[in-house]
Amino acid sequence: MTDCLFCKIVEGEMDADVVHRDDDVVGFRDINPQAPHHVLFVPTKHIATLNELEADSAALIGKLTMAAKQYAERNGIAEDGWRVVMNCNEGAGQSVFHIHLHLLGGRRMNWPPG
Ligand code: AMP
Repeated sequence: MTDCLFCKIVEGEMDADVVHRDDDVVGFRDINPQAPHHVLFVPTKHIATLNELEADSAALIGKLTMAAKQYAERNGIAEDGWRVVMNCNEGAGQSVFHIHLHLLGGRRMNWPPG
């Protein structure tokens, strides 16, 4: 998708603070961090929302989660705790329409989220 912000980051056409890259997943720091560690993990494949996820792509969600887990371990937040969030559609707060998993960590989290 040529006009997708996160596709541009995946393709290296737009700058980002990339912390993870493999064939299926790119991870980069959120530009407006809500915690000391706030990283977005996106599939290299463009999928607009979780509503568009198909069975043959569902394994990508596990790959996003594994990349987040590895980040948490590498950065010393695994034991204290960290959170993942995926917003689906505007009503849930999705503002970029290329699915992404937020990793938040480095501070105490409240529940329920707002
Ligand atoms: P969501 O609201 O769940 O769709 O999350 C989108 C996230 O993308 C927000 O937390 C934004 O701060 C973040 N974001 C938007 N543009 C960029 C960018 N160019 N680089 C990194 N993060 C971004």
